Amino acid sequence: MLSLAHLSRIRMVMVETSLSANIGSAARAMKTMGMSNLVVVNPHENPLSEQAIARASGAQDILERVVQVPTLEEALQGCELVIGTSARDRALPWPMLTPREIPQQIATVGAEGDIAIVFGRERSGLTNEELARCHYHVHIPANPDYSSLNIASAMQIIAYEVRLAMLQGEESGRAGNEEPQLRARAEDLEGFFQHLQAMLVDIEFADPNNLKQLMIKLRRFHMRAQPEPVELNILRGIVSQTQKTIGRLKDV
Ligand code: SAH
Repeated sequence: MLSLAHLSRIRMVMVETSLSANIGSAARAMKTMGMSNLVVVNPHENPLSEQAIARASGAQDILERVVQVPTLEEALQGCELVIGTSARDRALPWPMLTPREIPQQIATVGAEGDIAIVFGRERSGLTNEELARCHYHVHIPANPDYSSLNIASAMQIIAYEVRLAMLQGEESGRAGNEEPQLRARAEDLEGFFQHLQAMLVDIEFADPNNLKQLMIKLRRFHMRAQPEPVELNILRGIVSQTQKTIGRLKDV
């Protein structure tokens, strides 16, 4: 059942935010909805700046507990479900959710897994490589002629939808029909993709100087499949064995 307890397992991740004032506003948006885990990846300004604290307006405790990391990979450690947000359509479409459909996915995450919702840079959003680390993309269906919300406003809408669904879940006591779904964690998926890429170069399937598009397509395929840890181990085993065999053939 979806409950407010899920809120503690959700981390809001802000990637390379330019203005610390936006981090402050984001902290406020989160606190009003009962969320507290804010992770910032390589922000341009100090998240505890005067402007940030002023915008947080009473949500300074969230800023004080902000986790600052240098890479998105570190921000996603331990996450079984990763959702990326985007203000516009991307060249390579990904499984999409509206903000209202997010809680349904959160409800499928088992008791051990964390959930990340990732927000992009004020100017350019998330890169395609960053979006490729996500299971789903979320687009707030805004005015198509002017669809880019302020980052903290986008966060507010998403946090509100999640909270509302959780309140409704608690009120109704309804078990929901979601089966817990085991998903491999972000760091294990990343390890697999790195390994797969190396193997594809080893077997001369891929050109080491021209891997980007191929890897994004392969990432999309695997993220869509949402492999379980055991399934990912099998895939990794296949990659390892392929490398061993190709190594032996090369030695002959
Ligand atoms: N020009 C950028 C706009 C970034 S807005 C772009 O096209 O992506 C900064 C961040 O706010 C985005 O990366 C996203 O995290 C969030 N955001 C803004 N508008 C949004 C929308 N309509 N749907 C989902 N997220 C949005």
